[in-house]
Amino acid sequence: MFEKTLVIIKPDGIERGLASQIISRIESAGLNISEQKDIYITTEQAERLYAEHKGQPYFEKIVEYIMSGMVKVMIVDGEGAVLKMRSLMGPTDPQKAPAGTIRGDLKFDNPDKKVIKNTIHGSDSVDSALREIRIFFE
Ligand code: GDP
Ligand code: MG
Repeated sequence: MFEKTLVIIKPDGIERGLASQIISRIESAGLNISEQKDIYITTEQAERLYAEHKGQPYFEKIVEYIMSGMVKVMIVDGEGAVLKMRSLMGPTDPQKAPAGTIRGDLKFDNPDKKVIKNTIHGSDSVDSALREIRIFFE
C-alpha cells in the first residue's frame, strides 16, 4: 500500500550533522521525502506528538528532548512507508538496535539516563502517521 509517515530527525541528529546521511538512507530504501522543514517544536506540538505517553515518568523528559534544538520534520511516502521507516530506524533503545539500522549505527553515549536519545522519530502506524502529520503540516 502507498503510505505516508511522519519522520523527525531529533535534535541530537541535527546537532551531530547527521541529517544528510539519514536522508540518503531513507531515499536508498526507495522512499520519497515529499515535504520537509527545519523547525523548533513548540510545547503544544511536542505534547500532541507524545500524547500517548502522558502520565509516564519520562513524559516531561521526552518533551524537553524533542524541544532542545532544531529538528527536521518530514513527510516520507512510498510503498509500505510506515513499516519500512520503522525497520530502517530500528528499535527504540539504540543500545538494542542492530547494526545497519539508523538508531544502531548512529547511537552515541548519552549520560542522561532519564531519556532515551535515539536520533529519529517515525510514526508507528498509518493512523498515527495521519494524526502526527496534522500536527506539523496543513
Ligand atoms: P518509538 O516509537 O520507537 O520512538 O518509541 P515510543 O513511541 O515508545 O517512545 C517515544 C520516545 O520516548 C522514544 O523515541 C524515546 O525517545 C522515549 N522513550 C520511550 N520509552 C522510554 C522509556 O521507557 N524511558 C525513557 N526514558 N524514554 C523513553
Ligand atoms: Mg512511537
